[in-house]
Amino acid sequence: MEILKERILQDGKCFEGGILKVDSFINHQMDPMLMYQIAEEFVTRFKNENINKIVTIEASGIAPAILVGYAMQLPVVFVKKKQPKTMENMLTTTVHSFTKDRDYTVCISNNFLTSDDRVLFIDDFLANGNAAMGMIDLINQAGATLSGMGFIIEKAFQEGGKILRDKDIHVESLAIIEDLSNCEIKIR
Ligand code: 5GP
Repeated sequence: MEILKERILQDGKCFEGGILKVDSFINHQMDPMLMYQIAEEFVTRFKNENINKIVTIEASGIAPAILVGYAMQLPVVFVKKKQPKTMENMLTTTVHSFTKDRDYTVCISNNFLTSDDRVLFIDDFLANGNAAMGMIDLINQAGATLSGMGFIIEKAFQEGGKILRDKDIHVESLAIIEDLSNCEIKIR
């Protein structure tokens, strides 16, 4: 997606350890016009999939997911990082955070992810695929079907993309970063 790649090259910043900072338009301050174009691109790329629900993980996945849900006229559910006492029929899994380098338990209510659901998962980044694998675990626990996974930015020098595509999952990434070494952003 050309406009996204240009924005990453213009405003993205590179950090030690292969981290790309896009907090001026995705992760902290947000550009809703760009985000809506991102959502429309996901709609195009997944138009042949049979989807009835959008799922994401808080927090950074929520903005793109809700716009995809709006564009597709489908409900959006987000996996929570804190377990509310009031959640009914809770499903949980453990995810390793790449940026925070720690494990945390995430949860979703089985009321909102069921065996009737055909899920499109949306997230901001695909790095090692830990968040995505956690999501797959929750989808399996719920007996739901995974129809596709869409990421705004994939870092191709980490293994997540290969792991997911090797499982024959329909993965779409709108910008693919080849390399961040020497703090230089190289986009495919
Ligand atoms: P994964 O679970 O694929 O290893 O990492 C994906 C998650 O870690 C994303 O949800 C995102 O929040 C965070 N993440 C991974 N790499 C980066 C990065 O380079 N920059 C930012 N801002 N977040 C990242």
